[in-house]
Amino acid sequence: MGQKILVVEDNELNLKLFCDLLRAHGFEAEPVRDGRDAIDRARGFSPDLVVMDIQMPHVSGLELIEQMKADDELRTTPVMAVTAYAAKGDEERIRDAGAEGYVSKPISVLRFVDAVQSLLATASQRARDIDGATEDAETEEAARPEGETAPEISNETTPDNFPPIDRPTEDGPHGETP
Ligand code: MN
Repeated sequence: MGQKILVVEDNELNLKLFCDLLRAHGFEAEPVRDGRDAIDRARGFSPDLVVMDIQMPHVSGLELIEQMKADDELRTTPVMAVTAYAAKGDEERIRDAGAEGYVSKPISVLRFVDAVQSLLATASQRARDIDGATEDAETEEAARPEGETAPEISNETTPDNFPPIDRPTEDGPHGETP
């Protein structure tokens, strides 16, 4: 069962190429042809990573990345931008928008898959760190109420109930014979 990757790309050939490539590497790839659907589809699909084309009609990938990074639910999902522009400062603009990774077109198949895998590895390591922190917090919270309710009642009842039963049987034979 592979990790889920949302692929936002208006070019049909690139969309098919990216999805085929990801599926061949064991990922579950979900294509999005229209950038205007990207945010809704990301909410519904809950991807582990988004591959985001930058040059699209109607809405640019940069805008979509900014929207995702301003969204409480989608903010933590890593975004790998894919762009044909090799213009100076382009990568910087993409990173400023909040993308975690960047690959230029035409893509190198190896670098594309490498970039996806390393972004996923980084993201899952970060998630593990966060999980570890919340687990510790939860255990501490759970331990307090138990500690308050558990001990007192049993401590009071046991000493009163047991000694009286033991004493008569021991004292009886020893005390009466002489
Ligand atoms: Mn495009």
